[in-house]
Amino acid sequence: MSSTISLAEISNNPNCMDDYDPNAMSVAKARQFIKQFLSPVTETELLPLRESLGRVLAVGILSPSNVPNYDNSAMDGYAFNAKDIAVASPTRLRVIGTAFAGKAFNGSVASGECIRIMTGAAMPRGADTVVVQEKVMLENISQENHYITLADAPKPRMNVRYTGEDLQQGQTVLASGHLMRPADLGLIASLGIAHVQVYRKLRVAFFSTGDELVSLGNTLETGQVYDSNRYTLHGMLSKLGVEIIDLGAIADDPTLLEETLLKAAKQADVVITSGGVSVGEADYMKLLLAKHGQVMFWKIAMKPGRPLAYGKIGSAHYFGLPGNPVAVMVTFYQFVREAMLRLMGQPSPAPLPMFQVECTQAIKKLTGRTEFQRGVLFTDLNGDWRVKPTGAQGSALLSSMSLANCFIVLDEAVGNLDAGALVRVQVLDGVV
Ligand code: AMP
Ligand code: MG
Repeated sequence: MSSTISLAEISNNPNCMDDYDPNAMSVAKARQFIKQFLSPVTETELLPLRESLGRVLAVGILSPSNVPNYDNSAMDGYAFNAKDIAVASPTRLRVIGTAFAGKAFNGSVASGECIRIMTGAAMPRGADTVVVQEKVMLENISQENHYITLADAPKPRMNVRYTGEDLQQGQTVLASGHLMRPADLGLIASLGIAHVQVYRKLRVAFFSTGDELVSLGNTLETGQVYDSNRYTLHGMLSKLGVEIIDLGAIADDPTLLEETLLKAAKQADVVITSGGVSVGEADYMKLLLAKHGQVMFWKIAMKPGRPLAYGKIGSAHYFGLPGNPVAVMVTFYQFVREAMLRLMGQPSPAPLPMFQVECTQAIKKLTGRTEFQRGVLFTDLNGDWRVKPTGAQGSALLSSMSLANCFIVLDEAVGNLDAGALVRVQVLDGVV
């Protein structure tokens, strides 16, 4: 797929590209297509370490020192020089002092000597090996006079954490583009670094469209539904750690829609709408998007989530998601999430874990489209993981999403499956 053709050219004339059919886009092709237009936000900010959780590093972290910074014991035991093992068997050593974590033994250990040493304590001069305390016999000859005999001699250099074993000074610890997780906070703290340079938060504006939508707190008339998409979007975007601008539920009124769309594009990096992009709708959104931006409308070969629009309005990226509540979540999960991570500064976001597992029930499926059925991963009586569909799979059944802990991903070529078939599942790792 060439990126030399501009978005404007493609949106004006989709046929200008080979191998591009807006009426039958595969999931993989649509994802690949969107990818070429995504470049991360450029502004960065310096944050106190704790506040960087969930943000993307704009500048890589180099280790300012060796970690650990000094040779230290990995166990509670006795430190001595491995050469003593060869001198006599069994090895008998005089205990000449003690080293604690944070309180070193200042002397040096000569042949025939050892010190008592605690986990994390600095290794004394002259010693290179630690024997764990369970593997020695202790003789207390007098209050000041103690000996140990090694019942089971360790290999030379055992039970010592050596300087720079974890990280070498100057080594790249975390590259720019890394999404900060709890372990990273600890890792960076272990280097003594208190502030990190991260990309600024992505600003995402969204609104729902539809004459039938009613906001919470009002009574439903016949033909109306509560606007639930704004709530699921709020949840999914919150999990991604972006700045959220909720512009409400907008009736299918061209003036209102135009106003809201322009307001959204002016203040956000990304604009997301739900509803109004399917064929046969009052075509306001399509006309507006054509007037103010370069947007492509696709029928994706997938279920749920067939209609999808992507493009740009001014400098904002635009995602037009279907209206059906489950379709909103599936398309967000399959297209928007990864795009957001790229815009947040991650050059190649890790795909959601996907693995094969046996499905305990038969599945109905048409070939020619990718289905994202809602599934429940569970352990059977033997403790093995299995999956089963949540039940009815309609695109409007949000309860199926609530019950699910995974998508059962059935590729285009797959048809009906018998119980016991292997299927691929994608775990809904806290996003949904
Ligand atoms: P549309 O894509 O606008 O044709 O909408 C498809 C279906 O999704 C219709 O049944 C709509 O009522 C429903 N729908 C659209 N937007 C929402 C929303 N924000 N909350 C709940 N249902 C919606
Ligand atoms: Mg609608």
